[in-house]
Amino acid sequence: MTTNEKVFISPGRYVQGEGVIARAGHYVSNLGQSALLIADDVVWKIAGEALSKSLEGDNVRFERAVFEGEASSREIDRLVKLGQKQKAEVVIGFGGGKAIDTAKGVAEKLEAACAVLPTTASTDAPTSALSVIYSDDGEFESYRFYTKNPDLVLVDTGIICKAPPRFLASGIADALATWVEARAAIRANANNMAGGKATLLGATIGEKCEEVLFEHALLAYQANQAQIVTPSFEAVVEANTLLSGLGFESGGLAGAHAIHNGFTALHGDIHDMTHGEKVAFGTVAQLILDQTPQAELEEYLDLYLALGLPVTLKALKLEDVSDEDLYRVAEAALKEGESSHNLAYELKPQQVVSAIKAVDVHARAFMEKVGLSE
Ligand SMILES: [Zn+2]
Repeated sequence: MTTNEKVFISPGRYVQGEGVIARAGHYVSNLGQSALLIADDVVWKIAGEALSKSLEGDNVRFERAVFEGEASSREIDRLVKLGQKQKAEVVIGFGGGKAIDTAKGVAEKLEAACAVLPTTASTDAPTSALSVIYSDDGEFESYRFYTKNPDLVLVDTGIICKAPPRFLASGIADALATWVEARAAIRANANNMAGGKATLLGATIGEKCEEVLFEHALLAYQANQAQIVTPSFEAVVEANTLLSGLGFESGGLAGAHAIHNGFTALHGDIHDMTHGEKVAFGTVAQLILDQTPQAELEEYLDLYLALGLPVTLKALKLEDVSDEDLYRVAEAALKEGESSHNLAYELKPQQVVSAIKAVDVHARAFMEKVGLSE
């Protein structure tokens, strides 16, 4: 590859709106008549009937496979066998980030079309041509890259507004990392996740994503608490899903996600935290390493705190974390191939440890300043 090769990638079709699940059959039938549908029991209970009805209405035959909870190599292989038996032409991932990442891996191996129907706006997994693969115990293993993005991403905001607001907040945190990381990667002339440099479009999407979130995130969060769809809610679901997804993939990742991946190496209560919650903390750590001025840093802290996102060690369930454990996090974040190497500067583990501690220090100082208690 030449060093000036720019690459932008995206899903085949993106559909969003209240009640669009009723159109799933229409869109999926354009991809194939036989579907392997991956969804866990909780998701199926909430929205399975609406999806079944729509698929049946458009004569899509499908078999539901129960997703067992982890986006691991073993789970992907198990579901591939089911898809082979059924001769699935399309794989439907219905649920949260891990079910979606699993479905993408299954579709690639089956050489089938891939339809992604997220039931939360909690990560930017839906649109990308990659999966985050974890061990069966939930530790980050690797990114798995695919030959193409999903053929269809269909987002029913009427379903998403019924999910707990904590999921939306997590998606906002994942999406707020997008521009912080992409602009750092672009500054360093690093490659994006599509294996080239960012196009103007890739960069613009990341910047727009952040703008939408600072304008609408709190209003969307309130709408979600009341389980209603509003224009701000629609805007934030799009930012969390489409803008964040295209923005990170065709812009680039950097420190925030590497530090997130580092946190997955720890055991204990931190495993109760969502992807986005760990990313929120990692984003503030990167902002500190990026020498972000105080006023700007506080704008981020203010939004994270208003959304109940963890920016103190206590909130991240790491109140009693040892220096040795933080050093392990830092070493994992700086592993060869990690996106931390997309930053314009070289990092030593001790600098990452200090940045993690600094997140806690600055967040607590800010909370005291604005009269918030931990
Ligand atoms: Zn993420």
